[in-house]
Amino acid sequence: MRRALAAALAAAVLAATAPGAVPAAIADSAPASAPASNVAPLDVAEVAPGVFVHEAPFALIAPANRGDIANLGFIVGDDAVAVIDTGGSVATGAALLAAVRAHTDKPVRYVVNTHVHPDHLAGNAAFAGEGAKIVGHHKLARALAARAPFYREQADRQLAPADAAQSDFLAPDIAVEGTMRLELGGRELLLEAHPTAHTDADLSVLDTATGTWFLGDLLFAGHLPSLDGSLTGWLAEMDRLAERPVARVVPGHGPRAMAWPDALVPQRRYLARIAADVRALIAEGRSISAAAESAGLSERDAWALFDEFNPHNATAAFQELEWE
Ligand SMILES: [Zn+2]
Repeated sequence: MRRALAAALAAAVLAATAPGAVPAAIADSAPASAPASNVAPLDVAEVAPGVFVHEAPFALIAPANRGDIANLGFIVGDDAVAVIDTGGSVATGAALLAAVRAHTDKPVRYVVNTHVHPDHLAGNAAFAGEGAKIVGHHKLARALAARAPFYREQADRQLAPADAAQSDFLAPDIAVEGTMRLELGGRELLLEAHPTAHTDADLSVLDTATGTWFLGDLLFAGHLPSLDGSLTGWLAEMDRLAERPVARVVPGHGPRAMAWPDALVPQRRYLARIAADVRALIAEGRSISAAAESAGLSERDAWALFDEFNPHNATAAFQELEWE
């Protein structure tokens, strides 16, 4: 990781974990007991009382990482558990379930999917045996139906054959439009379906007991944001999100807990840069391929996976802004 980026992330993490901000410090917590299955549990940390997060590495899905590239979490109430995102394969979902079982015997009542991307929900099937209800944005089912055939082919290319064969993109049982509250026993989660931003089906999860807000890929930190919804929509939604007073946020990719709204600054700067660069290129009559090559380049040293995602972001921005 580049030094400036590492320093910025460290500062943000420190801010989020300053004394008094996070009672149960961010330390890898030892499992309370051996997991029931022989699956090795994902490494998780308790970022606030009863709120556990797995911080994934910055990477593309590959056979060796089994799709473990997105931050995942779970929240434990008095009666039940909610899981937030399930990883890029059923194997990673099973490892998350093993991590849940290392900390609590309570049933997993809900599996919340923050959006349609496979690195966040391809592990859903690992929770089928728990009887958990899958919860998503009201547009998630439609997005999944449209994309599942492509995602299955993609899994064949990105995962080992045994992991790809398990790929099963389960549609949500519960659709969220506006907001919805989920009860875990003495603990309530506030879910919010957002207007089109990172994707057209972004859902956030606020643990009201601790003020911990899981933003999914509405927030990237360190890992270049990827645009699959609306650039202008995302910029507008960020302004709204920034107003919310919360204790800490969990990005879809980045540190497991961050201070808010400071965590938003680099992503807002990058997306605003893309919008400004692309608008200038359009005004000059330049082509979409020129945008793919040059828009946003001043941000290159600030992000991991820049070359992997920036050309696509610039292309998507051009298509969106061309007719405004
Ligand atoms: Zn995503």
